[in-house]
Amino acid sequence: MSGCIFCKIVKGEIKSDIIFENDKIIAFKDLNPQAPIHILIIPKKHISRIENLEKEDSSLMGNLIFSAKEIADKLDIKNGYRLVFNNGANGGQEVEHIHLHLLAGRKFTWPAG
Ligand code: 5GP
Ligand code: ZN
Repeated sequence: MSGCIFCKIVKGEIKSDIIFENDKIIAFKDLNPQAPIHILIIPKKHISRIENLEKEDSSLMGNLIFSAKEIADKLDIKNGYRLVFNNGANGGQEVEHIHLHLLAGRKFTWPAG
């Protein structure tokens, strides 16, 4: 979608530090990391929010989570990690293109603020 920064990252129009890529998914380092390891895993297809998912996107979203596992393996992340979807205004979503945050390298508290 034109104007979407993550679509521009997918197209290579905005530079990013890419960690993982396949035909449907790309993962890159967050510009403003909240942990020693902070990676954003996104579908190449523009989907703005979870509520706009179609049934046909189910396997894509499963693959998104599986990519997190592959990245954690590749980076040899020990002692766990946090996976987060911020969704919509109250969920703290700033970029309207679905993305999974993979955060690691420190201990996280719960409940999140
Ligand atoms: P949200 O708050 O929508 O869940 O997360 C959006 C994330 O995208 C934020 O953590 C922010 O730092 C990151 N971000 C925003 N613009 C860019 C960018 O141009 N490049 C990269 N690598 N990350 C970005
Ligand atoms: Zn987009």
